[in-house]
Amino acid sequence: MINNLAYILACVLFIMGIKRLNRPETARRGNFLSALGMLIAVVAAFFENEVVQSWNTADWLQNGYVWALLAVAIGSVIGILWSKRVKMTGMPELVAIYNGFGGLASFLVAFTQFLRDPAAVETIVAASIALTILTGAITFTGSMLAWGKLSEKISGRAIVFGGQKIINGVLALAAIGMMVIFVMPGIDEGVRLAVIIILAGISLIFGFALVLPIGGGDMPVVISLLNSLSGVAVALAGFIIANTVLIVAGALVGASGMMLTLIMCRAMNRSIKNLLFSGFGANPAVSTRGPGAEPKAISTEDAYLMLEAAGSVVFVPGYGMAVAQAQHVVKELAQKLEAAGAEVSFVVHPVAGRMPGHMNVLLAEADIPYEQLKTMDEMNPAMPLCDIAIVIGANDVVNPAAENDESSPIYGMPIIKAYEAKTVFVLKRGKGRGFSGIENELFGMSNTLMIYGDAKATISALVGEFASE
Ligand code: NDP
Repeated sequence: MINNLAYILACVLFIMGIKRLNRPETARRGNFLSALGMLIAVVAAFFENEVVQSWNTADWLQNGYVWALLAVAIGSVIGILWSKRVKMTGMPELVAIYNGFGGLASFLVAFTQFLRDPAAVETIVAASIALTILTGAITFTGSMLAWGKLSEKISGRAIVFGGQKIINGVLALAAIGMMVIFVMPGIDEGVRLAVIIILAGISLIFGFALVLPIGGGDMPVVISLLNSLSGVAVALAGFIIANTVLIVAGALVGASGMMLTLIMCRAMNRSIKNLLFSGFGANPAVSTRGPGAEPKAISTEDAYLMLEAAGSVVFVPGYGMAVAQAQHVVKELAQKLEAAGAEVSFVVHPVAGRMPGHMNVLLAEADIPYEQLKTMDEMNPAMPLCDIAIVIGANDVVNPAAENDESSPIYGMPIIKAYEAKTVFVLKRGKGRGFSGIENELFGMSNTLMIYGDAKATISALVGEFASE
């Protein structure tokens, strides 16, 4: 009874926490509330009947508390150390690993529940076990591959080969076949065990096979999709062991992950089907366009003279700003520009950085006022009136090819129209391409001036110019 109340409290805290995550000002509190909910759920699990009864056993190997505390201790140490070490730009990889382990945990719960007493498994529970094994295994291997691609342990490209869709189709049909046999009533125990082992094997391979043809800029969406799938696996595992908190928490993760996936797809003007099956990123330079005109570079001294005279300046941060950790010096430059009489704003693309909301978090970290943050849809119509757009380590999200080059892989993705500003400064280290691996004609446009170098060093130099006045 008390356990169930604790679980309900935990679920309420999860929901309150998620609600607060939708605004940067309340996100920290939301995170805290959800973590508190998780703590309450974990403590309540220690008082589950089965765990309490195992306390009296003479054999310590049979004592549930020993294993549970060991798991909590190992998990906490790894979690704390890893979270402390990870950089903001490494968040997608960390999320990928967490999703994968969530899937593996659900998979193991399902497997062990079956092995405990195969004869006692009823049809409904058998269906939950089969679905949990399928979703848990796909989440695990898919996430591990996604982690490898994102952390560049293996090539981040989409890997496509002839007959790939047929192989995936056969794997899907084989998995469905195994699940049907597994849930059939009256089936021999030995056959059932063989079937569930084969289903596990097929599902593990299927996870790899699904993520293999996805690459480049689509990886963050796949992480979000796998996050949603890990939630589904957890909810299904909750049905197997009749645990309310697992069902509710899993459903919340499943639904919110799916919503995020759809939002990201919309921001890139793609459908989930196109994302999963188009092999985007396999051939990075398929655009028929050449590199365009040779870019013109200027020094920070010259850039300062133009900035000092500007009436309106818009900052366009991208992944490179996160890499350079330039957000704090950007704030300093914004203050100097305001003191010099310029109107300053920031425009953030929904997929800038490598995770949605990534840029907003970085800018909030540097205490940039929310009133200065503009969405792409708010800023684009005002762009032609802007004196200077400063593009800091952004590339794909300002690439005009998305609007005017039908052969470009990013064609159709909404972009920030920085090219429409009277003058555009592009801060980047060299002539490298963006995440999608395609040329950017913005760099060669007549109103664009490149300032080469690390974004933090360049912005610091500009702040230095203002300070020396
Ligand atoms: P990009 O990855 O396209 O470009 C980043 C730029 O930053 C590069 O041109 C790089 O150039 C520059 N850069 C890197 N390090 C530094 C540094 N230290 N100082 C200065 N410049 C630096 O970034 P965007 O933000 O424009 O785009 C994000 C990408 O992620 C897009 O492809 C987007 O589609 C993808 N994405 C996709 C999502 C989805 O939903 N599918 C979600 C989130 C992101 P150089 O090497 O020359 O310095």
